[in-house]
Amino acid sequence: MTNIIPLSLEKNGKWTERGIRSIVLHHTAGKVSKTQTESIKIIRAINEEHKRRDWGGGAKAPSITYHFAMDLLGNIWLLNHPKYKTWHAGVANDVSIGVVVLGNFQEHIPSDEETEIIKKSLNEIQRWIFWRYFIPRRNWIAHRDVKKTECCGDYLYFILQDWKNRK
Ligand SMILES: [Zn+2]
Repeated sequence: MTNIIPLSLEKNGKWTERGIRSIVLHHTAGKVSKTQTESIKIIRAINEEHKRRDWGGGAKAPSITYHFAMDLLGNIWLLNHPKYKTWHAGVANDVSIGVVVLGNFQEHIPSDEETEIIKKSLNEIQRWIFWRYFIPRRNWIAHRDVKKTECCGDYLYFILQDWKNRK
C-alpha cells in the first residue's frame, strides 16, 4: 500500500525528458569465469579490445563500452558511470545504460543457483539506477530488442523476462 497518488494535471507544454530511459542487457559471448580474479581478467581483456577496435570511421572508445558488469559468482562492477554515453547498443546508446553478464548464454544454461545470483545482481543494479534515474524495472531490454543479434543469449533472455515480470 502506498499513500502516493498520481494526479493528472493540465499542463502548459511538456517537461523535457531525461536522457536515460532504458537499460540494455548483454552477454560477453565468452567463457563463464570460476573466480573473481578470472572475471576481472576477462573484463580487462574486453577493455583492451574495445579500446583497440575501430568503432566506425576510425572512432576509438576511451574504455570498455558497458556501464556495469556481473559474473555468475555474485560480483558486480561499475565500469563507466551511467552519466556517460557509451557505445554498447547502436541506436539505443543515447538513452540507455549497458549491463553485461560474463558468459555465453546461447550455450550456457545457468543452474538454479546461478539464475538466483543473476536475478539478485539485476535487483542490485536496478536499485542503484532507480535511486539516481528513477527508471523502472520494466524498462530493461536485451540487446536483441534493438539490434539483430543473439545478445544476450536465449537463456539469459528468458531470465530477464522472468525477472521483469516478477510481481
Ligand atoms: Zn550485446
